[in-house]
Amino acid sequence: MAMMISRYRICLALLFSLVVGILGLQAQTRPPITLEVDATQAPQQIIHTHMVIPVSPGPLALYYPKWIPGEHAPDGPITNLVGLKFSANGKMIPWQRDLLDMFTFHLDVPQGVSSLDVRFDYVEPAETSGFSAGASATDKLVVISWNQNLLYPAGHSAQDLIFKPTLKLPEGWKFGTALPVAHQDGDAVEFKPVSMNRLVDSPVSSGEYYRVVDVTPPGEPIHHEIDLAADSEAALDMSPELQQDYTNLVAETGKLFGSRHYRDYHFLLTLSDHVAHFGLEHHESDDSRVGEFSLIDAQQSVYMGMLLPHEFVHSWNGKFRRPKDLSPPYYEQPMKTDMLWTYEGLTEYLGYLLTARSGLWTPEQYRENLALIAARFGPGRPGRTWRPLLDTATSAQFLYFAPDGWTNWRRGVDFYDEGVLLWLEVNSVIDQQTHGKKSLDDFCRLFYGGPNDGPQLKTYTFQDLVDALNKIAPYDWADFLHKRLDGTSPEAPLGGIEGSGWEVIYTSVEPALLRTSEEIHDSLDESYSIGLLLKDDGTVEDSIVTKPAYKAGISPEMKVIAVNGRQFTPQVLRLALKAGITSKEPLRLLVLNDGYYKTCTMDYHGGELFPHLVRESGQPDLLDQILKPLATH
Ligand SMILES: [Zn+2]
Repeated sequence: MAMMISRYRICLALLFSLVVGILGLQAQTRPPITLEVDATQAPQQIIHTHMVIPVSPGPLALYYPKWIPGEHAPDGPITNLVGLKFSANGKMIPWQRDLLDMFTFHLDVPQGVSSLDVRFDYVEPAETSGFSAGASATDKLVVISWNQNLLYPAGHSAQDLIFKPTLKLPEGWKFGTALPVAHQDGDAVEFKPVSMNRLVDSPVSSGEYYRVVDVTPPGEPIHHEIDLAADSEAALDMSPELQQDYTNLVAETGKLFGSRHYRDYHFLLTLSDHVAHFGLEHHESDDSRVGEFSLIDAQQSVYMGMLLPHEFVHSWNGKFRRPKDLSPPYYEQPMKTDMLWTYEGLTEYLGYLLTARSGLWTPEQYRENLALIAARFGPGRPGRTWRPLLDTATSAQFLYFAPDGWTNWRRGVDFYDEGVLLWLEVNSVIDQQTHGKKSLDDFCRLFYGGPNDGPQLKTYTFQDLVDALNKIAPYDWADFLHKRLDGTSPEAPLGGIEGSGWEVIYTSVEPALLRTSEEIHDSLDESYSIGLLLKDDGTVEDSIVTKPAYKAGISPEMKVIAVNGRQFTPQVLRLALKAGITSKEPLRLLVLNDGYYKTCTMDYHGGELFPHLVRESGQPDLLDQILKPLATH
């Protein structure tokens, strides 16, 4: 588009107006849009919206947000928008949906009309998949993601549209949000006028059972709190030890980045078995949702240990600094997601580090997790032989929603976990090149530091990243990164682990973290032995292409009924694998496939196998160095 215009030697001013016209964005100030969201019927799974939008007579296009920031996909829940009605001066105005874009509504504003009344409902889905578009309301709580409850006029950037939002809550419910409150009258809350991008980036959690936990470290000038909403009073009982660990987390980020870029920070943590479970980053808050008893069950609180560190890191990596192509000016413009190996991959790397540095995990748990990550990429994992890391990022918009079956061959959103290995290798290269004087921590202070001007966005490109890395340690970073991003191999990329003085080995001892994960998910992981991931009832979640079970004819969605003639339970399979080490008999699995039974036989005698990290003798222990807390606590 820019090349076509430049051929006509148009003066700069005209060129500018043309570009603005083509983008359809107008920067002039408009009167604010009034948005009233009525969540008083949240327990009944329905949220009402009433908007007053300043308009001019003539054709008008209104959008429902489509590309949701942080979800990296066009997954705005348009299906749940119902009861849409427009009126002005007491008269209904007809509308039409765009034939090509389901998120666009067209109407003709009559002469003499200067403000448009918009009413619709958002009906809450029951499905617990689909991130913020999944179930978000229960009898006792609700999370309001504003993008679900508003329309906005075409032709403006989200930064230039000003909203005046109000929210009505069920009687007696408390709430938490990063939005500054202008006025509160009982259950009606009026927020200060706010730009649309800040509004959409600032969800509200609310509930009958609600507790605010202060996690501001001593001496820290910026306020941090965890806002807990739960389906029961008992679930809110966070221990003082856990509160201390999360306070440590805040202190550790201050040391790691050397700067913050928000006014205050709210961890919005929702505890319910009836909402979607995920974490979604925002600049001054995060929307994290886990099982009801995640805080009071010791195993579950360890398992969720890395969730809040990951989402918190996004305030710097993802919100303050964001790849340019992941920062479109409004929500209908598609995102290019190829840089997610930094946006998500580096966040995952730093999130795990902070989980250990803050005490939420021990160094041993960190290493157990790192071994499990490495093992998911090889040896004997086929996905990396055809789909390079970069394509998992480019394909994020459908890989997030892909089924579990065949993940080992299709690949999933591997830019998270393979990103951990990649950034660990970047850290070890920095260590080698600077003879131990610098680490990725120095990169973090350089790239994410600077003054705190509130929630600002500073975009970057691949080249900006390479330039910043070069300032920490001169190296051919572009070549290094391209090789890691574009290469294919049946082997896991272990340069970071080996460069940190460790290697991956396989033994019959199951890591405690994996056992915890199996108990939480009612599953059994035999992917490193016969190559099966199973549910506790025998249903095959994935069958690793190249491994014995796949070769014997077992695929995802089949069901293991019996092991060597005995009814399947996880324990029966474990014992059979153990007995197989000293037996000459093959392993026989009776499998149900689309109503037919078949016996799958494999000559496997390796027993159960699980990955672990062990020290490489003679190498300095770089993991030990990077896991040490930076703050005193
Ligand atoms: Zn993330």
